[in-house]
Amino acid sequence: MGDFSLSVSDDQDAVREWVHGFARDVMRPVASEWDEREETPWPVIEEAAKIGLYSLDFLATASMDPTGLTLSLVSEELAWGDAGLAMSLLGTGLAVAGIWANGTPEQHGEWLPQCYGTPDDVHLGAFCVSEPDAGSDVSSLRTRARYDEATDEWVLSGTKTWITNGGIADVHVVVASVEPELGTRGQASFVVPKGTPGLKMGQKFSKHGLRASHTAEVILDDVRIPGHQLLGGKERLDERLARAKEGRSTSSQAAFATFEATRPSVGAQAVGIARAAYEFALDYAKERRQFGRAIIENQAIAFTLADMKTRIDAARLLVWRAAWMAATGATFESGEGSMSKLFASETAVWATGEAIQIMGGYGYVRENPVERWHRDSRIYTIFEGTSEIQRLVISRAISGVRIR
Ligand SMILES: Cc1cc2nc3c(=O)[nH]c(=O)nc-3n(C[C@H](O)[C@H](O)[C@H](O)COP(=O)(O)OP(=O)(O)OC[C@H]3O[C@@H](n4cnc5c(N)ncnc54)[C@H](O)[C@@H]3O)c2cc1C
Repeated sequence: MGDFSLSVSDDQDAVREWVHGFARDVMRPVASEWDEREETPWPVIEEAAKIGLYSLDFLATASMDPTGLTLSLVSEELAWGDAGLAMSLLGTGLAVAGIWANGTPEQHGEWLPQCYGTPDDVHLGAFCVSEPDAGSDVSSLRTRARYDEATDEWVLSGTKTWITNGGIADVHVVVASVEPELGTRGQASFVVPKGTPGLKMGQKFSKHGLRASHTAEVILDDVRIPGHQLLGGKERLDERLARAKEGRSTSSQAAFATFEATRPSVGAQAVGIARAAYEFALDYAKERRQFGRAIIENQAIAFTLADMKTRIDAARLLVWRAAWMAATGATFESGEGSMSKLFASETAVWATGEAIQIMGGYGYVRENPVERWHRDSRIYTIFEGTSEIQRLVISRAISGVRIR
């Protein structure tokens, strides 16, 4: 009795304040400029690396918090600063998660540090799953990985698309199909470092939002990599494929648990964008006068702000619950990780839209940040599983029915 608490610890609060300071003083002043430039914001990444915010050590410490909250706090503050810049800092974490989840301890030691480099030589990581014909349906990947026994090499061919840091990363983690007929259970992850012959950047995309984050195609044209760059190693893969062929595999459950565990930090970013818009709109509504009074004196405006605050707090609580469940090893009985990402991302789109409405014409123009936040928020209902896919996961989990 009496154990339940929603207060963050002094250590967590100190980390939150530190990241908030970086978001306020380094990210916010340059956010609009990098949105317009639509390029990787190297100076911001280097600044974050200098103070240890962009580093493997920091990610590892934040991820190992036994309550699970630190990574959510960090993600929220960075996205409050600016979501595009935040993605430039957090995108490498996707490659790290892929290596961490699938690699051997030796592979962790070899590749994880290379994802970040050093403050003097900053590196990026990329996690390459999506393809032109395989977005939500990751079981239909066409990128193939073939083992060449004679040389102990893997040969990868295919095209990946929408890849954060794609083609400019120092470490690409590529998910490819070894046995296509086994769907996701026939897939494996490979490390492809920068400079490997046959690895090329395709089209770089010009986007609606999150424009400070680089998104591009990655082309793998008969890329040959040494056998030891298969994450987890060949023996483990062969055993897994054999189990799958006998219909005994549980790897899709493992993948489900991994997605449920990583979705809260994406939800936390969405909470950060929504909070930024709410705070801006609240200040504006107190200042802006029409009909001889501040617009917040009208219930229509004040109640919208009340709803914004309520939904944002509810979204954060869902994020914290899922992050806590992941850290404590609780079972995601009802797709709680998906719930957090679904609700937080839809809240961000809604709240940023309401913020524009509260600001009228001033919300619609680029001299104020709210229109950028609205554009940035829009991707959160699409990547890392669309809202429809989150609803599919939740509805299947609560019903046990194979909903389609
Ligand atoms: C800025 C950005 C960054 C990204 N970064 C990465 C990255 O780093 N690495 C990576 O691998 N990928 C990345 N992605 C890809 C992203 O994860 C995919 O865009 C996403 O998974 C959706 O796939 P899709 O775009 O092919 O849409 P589709 O899967 O074609 O979906 C189209 C529509 O159909 C709906 N739909 C599909 N199937 C169902 C169903 N069964 N039931 C109901 N509705 C359904 C979807 O919800 C959606 O509304 C990124 C995308 C963007 C835009």
